Amino acid sequence: MLSPNPILTQFLKHSFLEEKGIELAFKLLDLIDSEVSGNKFFKLKYNLEQAKADGKNKVLTFGGAYSNHIYATAEAAKAENLEAIGIIRGERNESLNATLSHAQSLGMQLYFIDRNKYRNKTDPEFLATLQEKLGDFYLIPEGGTNKLAIKGTQEILDPEDKQYTHICSSIGTGGTFAGLHASLSEHQKLLGFSSLKGEFIHREIADLIQKHQLESRGSYEIFTTYHFGGYAKHKQELIDFTWWFYENFEIVLDPIYTAKMAFGIWDLINKGYFPKNSKILMIHTGGLQGNIGFTERTGIELPIPSK
Ligand SMILES: *Cc1c(COP(=O)(O)O)cnc(C)c1O
Repeated sequence: MLSPNPILTQFLKHSFLEEKGIELAFKLLDLIDSEVSGNKFFKLKYNLEQAKADGKNKVLTFGGAYSNHIYATAEAAKAENLEAIGIIRGERNESLNATLSHAQSLGMQLYFIDRNKYRNKTDPEFLATLQEKLGDFYLIPEGGTNKLAIKGTQEILDPEDKQYTHICSSIGTGGTFAGLHASLSEHQKLLGFSSLKGEFIHREIADLIQKHQLESRGSYEIFTTYHFGGYAKHKQELIDFTWWFYENFEIVLDPIYTAKMAFGIWDLINKGYFPKNSKILMIHTGGLQGNIGFTERTGIELPIPSK
């Protein structure tokens, strides 16, 4: 069984926060496990347990070439002595990028399929042909969000986190947000920062909550204005913020998810969104392996974790 390190929360000290009368802390899930970092730890743990309970020796999942989910699945499967297959969107490049070469070095078998075929990732017929070709596997959907993932993400918040008035998380597929929402206390509000462009995410989250019958004692709000151009897009302002944040707090952010959230929170504090004496907890969902690939892809330097 994957066993976590204790989760650290770091309080942020800054004159801006004092001025505004706001307490801000960062729950560092990126440090939870040296291999399976961030929210992916919580999303995978019950899925791998289930795979074993079902008598499967193999898991299969889908992802892009820089995917944190692919990376984490390769790590977690290895830790649990399961075989892993990654179906990767797009063409195979001559040399694998840092994410994929790491996944492969852990034993994950990689298969590349073109973008059109990739769209069939949830189609039962397509999955059946994969099953015929690759053998019996336990399916983890792209991004890893399913019922068991949400069971896991309901364990992110601890009893100590009841002291906070606001909990903040970035959103990709919404599995993390949905689990956090279901574990709020009465007085808490969950703020989500979508890393993708578009308003569809409101519906997506509402559907997840309904489909999995998730009750919440708290409330939520989703912000769709901090995507910086869309998924895996960036703007110089976000890169500058990532460096500024690192220099001030020695916390590394990734430009796909956590930097967009932290930027959004800082902006909302500045605009007076939070009442005085709010206590805000940001969730660091990890994803730092992607910083190396980001630099490979764009040539833009980013902070990288020291360990
Ligand atoms: C995968 C990921 C997310 C998105 O999580 P969802 O449950 O898909 O919303 C957020 N942050 C990081 C760093 C991630 O790797």
